[in-house]
Amino acid sequence: MSSNFSPIKELPFNISFNEFQSALSESVNHETICEPIKQLINNTYHRRRDIFISIRKWVDIKNYANKDHHVVKWELKSNSNELFFAIGVASRKKAAADIAASLLLEKVNLAINFEQNISGLPNYRGHCYTWPTLITFLNDPEFSRCLMNGLALIRQEKRDNFKTFYGLKELHKNYIKGTRNGPLVVDHLPTGIENKYQDWRKVAESYVRSTGRRDVLNVDAALIYIIMQLRDSVSQDYGSPGGDSRLFYRDLFDQIEKEFRLKEINPFRHFNQVAMKFSYNCKCGAQNEPIDLEMNSLTVAPKYHDDLGVKSLQEFLESSLMLSNQTCSKNNDGMICNEPIVDVSKLEFINAPKYLVFTIKDVIPASIENPKDILMCSELKFKVGQTNHRYELKSHGFQISNDVQKTLRDTEPQDDDSQDGTHTCVMIKTNDEWKEIDNNKVLEPLRVYKTIKQRMLIFYRRID
Ligand SMILES: [Zn+2]
Repeated sequence: MSSNFSPIKELPFNISFNEFQSALSESVNHETICEPIKQLINNTYHRRRDIFISIRKWVDIKNYANKDHHVVKWELKSNSNELFFAIGVASRKKAAADIAASLLLEKVNLAINFEQNISGLPNYRGHCYTWPTLITFLNDPEFSRCLMNGLALIRQEKRDNFKTFYGLKELHKNYIKGTRNGPLVVDHLPTGIENKYQDWRKVAESYVRSTGRRDVLNVDAALIYIIMQLRDSVSQDYGSPGGDSRLFYRDLFDQIEKEFRLKEINPFRHFNQVAMKFSYNCKCGAQNEPIDLEMNSLTVAPKYHDDLGVKSLQEFLESSLMLSNQTCSKNNDGMICNEPIVDVSKLEFINAPKYLVFTIKDVIPASIENPKDILMCSELKFKVGQTNHRYELKSHGFQISNDVQKTLRDTEPQDDDSQDGTHTCVMIKTNDEWKEIDNNKVLEPLRVYKTIKQRMLIFYRRID
């Protein structure tokens, strides 16, 4: 695509010392997103010529502290003559240009409310269970930044077993490329592809020849690559169609954490890992036993006790009940106790990750009498130390039975509907509007879920 556009001329400029110093410190602290120049020129400037009238680039070299520093400045001008610019400083010119582009995109994305080009994904083999996680994250610039950080870390490591991570990076690249001009179109399903994992490319090539849709094929290829990694490293179940969206989410990020070996260098640590500490009692005699936990999701029961007085997911969180599936880790004469813990107290969260992810249990625990619905509030307050962070409901996946699918677009499902579901759909909020995604179709939802349901996977995104 970029070859269709004339290259951008580099103009000389002379940066002032003050401007240089502030650009230098901003550059050092900035984490660039994936392929920032392509994103800036192709995906932002050329795609939104209705908003932008010009793009310009300046270059300079500054000697500072006995070192040559490359300086690159990018500038976008809007049709209302508003100027957006950013300056990157680095020892290499390409790096300086990347940083400046990434910084500029950040500014522009904050200032202009772009219509998000959300897209579903092709579903050739029953992989709808991956959509809640993938559609939510592939459309998030913060996720792109984590991939970038991960790549930088991998370059330092002298190992090559980052297969799942690479798969995710390839999927992201192909999804962004494939959806550049609108949602992915899957108009012709290649016949015979449904159960193929190993030799799918043979079947798919004929599809590409007949439709010219290589972008869809590349997205599909990257997805199957990830699925194959999970089949080989986590569970044979990934070798056949169908699955559970909650398990996929957990397995995927557990596997990536394993590939990075140390949780401290997991590039998604501050993205979706929530850390906490609390104390508990146990019938083995453990009293106020302290425990530290770091998890990529919080497991929540689908209902609460009538007499608990909980009205929202937030209150439910604070009630600590969600930790009731933890077991005692006390070592009694060489044996780990493993009994279910009781009396959780002094619960404290240690970080506020970009995403808080909730997995909702399959069934209402028998211990819950007079079960009541838990509100899936549009905003959560989440306290870390003295700070209250705000999270907004971003998306959720839900499983439904194929035979009731049509009517479920009109009415909220009953509990037993959501239990025996075989097809997964996604509700996602983009630019203050909810979209319902069913395979590659992006639909206007006919309703919004108000309460949490069994088997749901729910994503809350931090807004401050
Ligand atoms: Zn115990």
